[in-house]
Amino acid sequence: APRREQLEFQAEARQLLDLMVHSIYSNKDSFLRELISNASDALDKLRLEAYRNKDLDVDTSDLHIEIETDKDARTLTIRDNGIGMSHDEVIDLIGTLAKSGTAELRSKLREARDAAASEELIGQFGIGFYSSFMVADKVTLVTRKAGESSATRWESAGEATYTIETLDEAPQGTSVTLHLKPEDTEDHLHDYTSEWKIKELVKRYSDFIAWPIRMQVERKTPPAEEGGEEQVTISDETINSMKALWARSKDEVSEDEYKEFYKHVAHAWDDPLEVIPMKAEGTFEYQALLFIPTHAPFDLFMRDAKVGVQLYVKRVFIMDDCDQLMPEYLRFVKGVVDAQDLSLNVSREILQQDRQIRAIRRRLTKKVLSTIKDIKNERPEEYRTFWNEFGRAIKEGLLSDTDNRETLLSISSFASTHSDEELTSLEDYVARMKEGQEQIYYATGESRQLLESSPHMEAFRAKGIEVLLLTDPVDEMWVGAVPEFDGKSFQSIAKGEVDLDTEDDKKAHESEREEKEKDFADLLTWMTEALDEHVKQVRLSTRLTTSPACMVGDAFSMSPALERMYRASGQ
Ligand code: ADP
Ligand code: MG
Repeated sequence: APRREQLEFQAEARQLLDLMVHSIYSNKDSFLRELISNASDALDKLRLEAYRNKDLDVDTSDLHIEIETDKDARTLTIRDNGIGMSHDEVIDLIGTLAKSGTAELRSKLREARDAAASEELIGQFGIGFYSSFMVADKVTLVTRKAGESSATRWESAGEATYTIETLDEAPQGTSVTLHLKPEDTEDHLHDYTSEWKIKELVKRYSDFIAWPIRMQVERKTPPAEEGGEEQVTISDETINSMKALWARSKDEVSEDEYKEFYKHVAHAWDDPLEVIPMKAEGTFEYQALLFIPTHAPFDLFMRDAKVGVQLYVKRVFIMDDCDQLMPEYLRFVKGVVDAQDLSLNVSREILQQDRQIRAIRRRLTKKVLSTIKDIKNERPEEYRTFWNEFGRAIKEGLLSDTDNRETLLSISSFASTHSDEELTSLEDYVARMKEGQEQIYYATGESRQLLESSPHMEAFRAKGIEVLLLTDPVDEMWVGAVPEFDGKSFQSIAKGEVDLDTEDDKKAHESEREEKEKDFADLLTWMTEALDEHVKQVRLSTRLTTSPACMVGDAFSMSPALERMYRASGQ
């Protein structure tokens, strides 16, 4: 390979860079949090790797992050002695945008009305390393991977290309040097070469980082004697407190600290909807700090969406996306679980077998669901936001998590014929049920409009009986699997014999009905024969008021939508 190459950014990466260079995001300060967060991740990875791979020849006795400023050169350097990156990793991780969906972000940003809307979107997608280009017009990264002898230098001005070069030597780990944009003399608040500015940002955004963040500080002391020289001493100072937030009790942690920690673990740019600190003592001890985000990530319903909980063991980072700790339908929950009694060597396979992990997962699941229930009861407005963002995921749980089905039903809401705008809970539906009504009626289909104009709806409308209008594909699945809510079973208005008449009604109609059966006997026989191949039965119905006929499914058959779905998938 050539020692120095000029390469092009992948198209999507270039788009995102372009956004950063023209900085639509108002909070430029957060670039530092992103770089420190990456350095911290790299240190976590090295510690674990060194523990697992005894052959790896690295010194892990002083893992730390260093920040260096140079006022004259107008540079800011963030350095770590963590895992580092190989030549190919730099190309993959920095030159290509590992995150998919950038094109989508880009088009959404074009539609975004204002800065706040853009920030919300960035919160959904995350930006990471590229945020450097909000404040720098050139970025130089030098890195050497632990265990490798040659190093890599990457440099870019945030335009179409970057250069990559192989170096014979460099300290192990990564340093990122930002060549800051020309100084805005009016704007002292954004002088990133100022010691107090850096200190302030670290305190605000990265205080909880578990590794020391050091900076060289100058101290001037007055002359020892009159007419003597002012003394300048330079010393290393650790500028973060390094307190693991999840290990501290709730009332020792400020709301802002929780928010910043959330941004670090969730790679988010916005605030969480809810913070859930947990602590368990006794036979197996663990601490957890979970967050319910305000916005769903763009990939929540994509195939490779991952669970968002990290596993630590005795403060040591073990893995991201620990799917043993959270059921798949709660994949939007972010945070950290720190277990005290596991080995640092645990693997995903071991976790799968572990009873303790299963117990923790059960507890976490229940806690998350009860928290959502509290939000629903106490903060209806926020619950509505939550349901809009994550309702579809919760409904997946109705199908997969039979243990918590009751709670899941109680925190779900649905569109119904009761109101055009407001969703209803099942509890409220049941409270509004007509005298003698024993089932919860629902209709499934592609849109509310289609459902409302369906002939199946006529009799229900005529009798003023409320019907749930289920239009999510996942609704088809759970509604067939969930037997009941509050003792009432779910009944599709398009399946089987839906009997809306009361006993009195029936008696009154009995003779009328018999007569009609006679009147229409010939027609029914003829139709049954004519439609023989297509239908099981043709019968008189009381469920229509204005339409002459409608198709009805068997009580146990698939709904038309589900049938379409299977057909489309070739089954
Ligand atoms: P994210 O942190 O969300 O993965 P970033 O854009 O911040 O996204 O970083 C992209 C990737 O580049 C990281 O996942 C990591 O693999 C790599 N990386 C970035 N900074 C460092 C660093 N200081 N040391 C080692 N790897 C790094
Ligand atoms: Mg990052």
